[in-house]
Amino acid sequence: MSSGNEGLLTLTIKMRVSPEPEYEKELINLMKRYREALNYSIKVIIKNKSLSLGKVHKLLYNILKEKYDLPSKIAIDCYREAIAIAKSWLRNQNRGKIPKTKTPRIWLTHKQSYRIKDSYVEILGGYKLRIIGWDRRYDKYPNKDARLIIKDGKFILEISKHIPKPAKYISKGILAIDVNEKHIVVGNSKTELIFKTAIKRALHYKQLAENLQKKYSLTRYNAWLRRRGIRKRIRYFHKKARNIIEDWIKKISHKITILAKHYQYAVAREELTNLIESLRELPKEHKVALLILSYRRLEHWIDWQCEKNDVPLIIINPKGTSITCPRCSSKLVKNGYRKMKCFKCRFEADRDIVAVQNIERKAKMWGALIPLNASQMTDVSPNRCGEPNRPKGTFAL
Ligand SMILES: [Zn+2]
Repeated sequence: MSSGNEGLLTLTIKMRVSPEPEYEKELINLMKRYREALNYSIKVIIKNKSLSLGKVHKLLYNILKEKYDLPSKIAIDCYREAIAIAKSWLRNQNRGKIPKTKTPRIWLTHKQSYRIKDSYVEILGGYKLRIIGWDRRYDKYPNKDARLIIKDGKFILEISKHIPKPAKYISKGILAIDVNEKHIVVGNSKTELIFKTAIKRALHYKQLAENLQKKYSLTRYNAWLRRRGIRKRIRYFHKKARNIIEDWIKKISHKITILAKHYQYAVAREELTNLIESLRELPKEHKVALLILSYRRLEHWIDWQCEKNDVPLIIINPKGTSITCPRCSSKLVKNGYRKMKCFKCRFEADRDIVAVQNIERKAKMWGALIPLNASQMTDVSPNRCGEPNRPKGTFAL
């Protein structure tokens, strides 16, 4: 369930599968019961603050078997997954509500609860699922624990694999990233590239959702909430907005990382936590929500892409990056729209360029030209679908 193995990365491979029709209903019911049992177990474990297997077994095993009607082995998998989720929640200092899963699912322990044979996945209990397609790139690495989920009506098997972590090169320079609402600027003192963000595009769909909601909450349309079609449409717009952000972040992080690798540069980004926290204090507008989402996902995907593509990564403290002169370290003064100027050395540039150069300077100052060994990477977090956690052991200045 967790790895922490040094020198190894944990990846999740997704596989589309389809159950044989005669078991489909039964399997869906089992996965729904598992979901309920898992949510119940997480609550009990957190309430009792018991994380040891023995204690949890006593607390839950019989209930999971009797009340939730789980087979013995699956009941054990269930409370083990619940322990892992409870642990990572308790470890997280900015934790929100107790985690709860919405998707029907089932945890499958490696070698015990599932196996892959020919073009089928066989699951304990006699279920057989035909494999429809998967990413073959990591076939040569052995399968570890897996999870079967139902998402948008489709069965997906997520299998974790450990792959050897590639060695990082010694960077020849820095590729700094600065992000704001409209642009992501990537570069250093020699060059910069500017990419538009997807905030505006995503906001469009948020607006459509809001308009629809407003229109149907007028009294003459009473109880829009009861109209399934409209509710569905509103949800679709919100989802579309999130997908736009997610797709764009994935693409841009990939692009940046590949660029850095091509020139053998280290990627340097600012620590965005404080920025995100300050955004949280603003009124809860759609734009603010999209910005928070974008910054969080950007951190996540940049770090992950660097780790996966063996690109050194440096995380710097954002303090002063937009107001310090990158040449002489004096304080810059505003000089027209988005322009900054140094009265001491006459340096003058756009805010984004200033930030990029300062991020580069800070990253170099810290001795970025030696490879950073970002130590351990990515337990597959059981409460996040198939995505790696942020790498630990990167350095903040
Ligand atoms: Zn200056």
